Amino acid sequence: MVLVARAADFAARRHVEQRRKGAAREPYVNHLIEVASLLAEATRGADPLLVAGGYLHDTLEDTSATYEDLEIHFGPAVATLVAEVTDDKSLPKAERKARQIATASSKSERARLIKIADKTSNVRALASSPPDDWEMRRIVEYVEWAEKVVDKCRGLNAALEQAFDAAVTQARATLNS
Ligand code: ZN
Repeated sequence: MVLVARAADFAARRHVEQRRKGAAREPYVNHLIEVASLLAEATRGADPLLVAGGYLHDTLEDTSATYEDLEIHFGPAVATLVAEVTDDKSLPKAERKARQIATASSKSERARLIKIADKTSNVRALASSPPDDWEMRRIVEYVEWAEKVVDKCRGLNAALEQAFDAAVTQARATLNS
């Protein structure tokens, strides 16, 4: 409980000035809470380290927090997990996206679960509140890419995979309406 609460607190503070891309401009922390909740529910609360990783999964990519910060506050296992789900921002975006597909199946089980939960939250958000400046085509391409990443992460948790599949079905229905 302490680890999870501290991860939520740390993530909320670090992402305090960020909003989601969608037209609703939700606070970024909503995404982190959704990812952490998906992970907690899918594992029935059995893995606090995983849920903490869910809260923290974007801190290295999108905030000034460093690997050392995470290691000091949460220990090496959490820091390593977050590093595993962090893209190399020195690479061009297309290369980063290709790499997520290429490397997903070699990630740890926890990292793959975070990937599925993250994509589930993102696909849900694209359906419910698409960014104003995203053409339909870009949304469709994102969903297709997310499916490719998730396909490399399957076989660990049926409940989480079902949540992702439901999000994709919902997004396709919204896009086609
Ligand atoms: Zn995320």
